[in-house]
Amino acid sequence: MNISTDPGSGFTHDVIVIGGGPAGMSAAMTAAEYGCKVALLDEQPRPGGQIYRNVTRAPAALRELLGPDYQRGSGLAERLQRSGVECHFDTTVWDVGQDLTVTAQCHGRSTQLRPRQLIAATGAMERPSPIPGWTLPGVLNAGAAQILLKSSGTVPSGATVLVGGGPLLLLVACQLLDAGARVAALVQTTPTSNLLRALPHLGRASLTPSYLAKGAGLLQKLKRAGVPFYRDAREIRIEGESGVSALTFRAGGTCVSIAADAVLLHHGVVPNTQLARLLRLEHRWDDTQLAWQPCVDAWFETSLPGLRIPGDGASIAGALAAEASGALAALGAAAAIGRVDCSTQEREARAWRKLLRKHSRVRRFLDELYRPPEWLVAPPDETIVCRCEEVDAGTIRHMAILGCQGPNQTKFFSRCGMGPCQGRQCAITVSQMLARAHFKSVQEVGSYRIRPPLKPIPLGSIAALASPSVSRSACKEEFE
Ligand SMILES: Cc1cc2nc3c(=O)[nH]c(=O)nc-3n(C[C@H](O)[C@H](O)[C@H](O)COP(=O)(O)OP(=O)(O)OC[C@H]3O[C@@H](n4cnc5c(N)ncnc54)[C@H](O)[C@@H]3O)c2cc1C
Repeated sequence: MNISTDPGSGFTHDVIVIGGGPAGMSAAMTAAEYGCKVALLDEQPRPGGQIYRNVTRAPAALRELLGPDYQRGSGLAERLQRSGVECHFDTTVWDVGQDLTVTAQCHGRSTQLRPRQLIAATGAMERPSPIPGWTLPGVLNAGAAQILLKSSGTVPSGATVLVGGGPLLLLVACQLLDAGARVAALVQTTPTSNLLRALPHLGRASLTPSYLAKGAGLLQKLKRAGVPFYRDAREIRIEGESGVSALTFRAGGTCVSIAADAVLLHHGVVPNTQLARLLRLEHRWDDTQLAWQPCVDAWFETSLPGLRIPGDGASIAGALAAEASGALAALGAAAAIGRVDCSTQEREARAWRKLLRKHSRVRRFLDELYRPPEWLVAPPDETIVCRCEEVDAGTIRHMAILGCQGPNQTKFFSRCGMGPCQGRQCAITVSQMLARAHFKSVQEVGSYRIRPPLKPIPLGSIAALASPSVSRSACKEEFE
């Protein structure tokens, strides 16, 4: 990465965007349109983020199979290429300082960049599903199976059972069917009572009917293909010795056992707040989405001035809403550094806000309909919750009995959340379990503190830093 610093200001860029998904691409292109010097960094090899992963390289047959929602990404990626934005792929951001200095690793070397405004469009990740047996070989998140399909056209072999709830689960089931996988069953864990919670929001959702039509289409397709459906499943166990062999559960008062070679779990997506937590930004627990969200204003600025978080990283709203929020964040950034005046900013924002509202209307309905079951955060004692350190649910409950009030104390005494994923796979579950144990709200209990490096990186990459300032800050944090 060859980066020059403006000797007068010390800044390398006007705007840096982390993340090349719909929010990040839209933010970078909008900022560039207003004359900002922009760099976009993404750890993936190509633009696209989660929804449009690999869209610029996927063979035509795979693009066809993944459908028009996926193909939309080609247009965005082509526009990005022509936009004058400096793109750095295969580039992992592993630290961000309070002065917005970004430390990123590319091909084993770390570099520091300093923008006037930083837009972190780091998207979402799948909610953990701590179900007995979820650590067995052959169990994947449904999103992970979709990543394999998008990146390499691979599908699980043998009988594949999908378990959980949410629109992405239905989408992945249909995409796998089209790609030739043997979908043996769809086991929905969504409680039937969710329908009552969701119904009051149906009117608003139907103002953007395309989403409801898409959902109905996916359900019909699975029915036509004869995929067995189970509803309100509970007491789920994934069985097997050295790998998955079956799934057992209770549905409609009966015990069911299905032979399976692969089990794909999914209970919705939640904002990826690792970077926001690293910077100790203000967060709120959203009781509808059952997730942490960084607090942002109308221009997606966080509690750290100059840092904006649009897209699914702020609140789950889908790809088209992410595109709109990315553009709004860029308008906020361009205005903050004087590249656009207030009246132009407001005028240009109007159309994006309208789009954002349009694509957010369906959200409350979906959130209520696919609210994960309560039992998901009450796993049996022997179920592993922290996969990196193999800490089980019983240990976390024991920590609560011993008096651990929050996730950080629990981490200190049990190593839960101390592994290389820094709690991505367990943070939400641990916070919710502790909140239950102490009869507190999740907001009161809080979440893990995150420290650099955000992602595992080789030591040589830190050592190779041209300026030692960030590696010193990283070390200081580590020993605090
Ligand atoms: C696994 C998965 C699959 C999904 N599939 C679909 C789908 O098929 N259809 C659909 O409608 N919705 C899908 N979604 C939901 C989808 O993510 C969003 O609606 C949409 O992509 C959000 O856009 P975004 O730009 O906010 O984030 P994303 O598209 O997630 O983009 C975030 C980008 O940030 C990058 N990034 C994150 N951290 C770093 C870092 N430290 N350094 C460098 N780069 C970083 C990531 O590599 C990623 O490219 C999926 C979600 C997940 C988690």
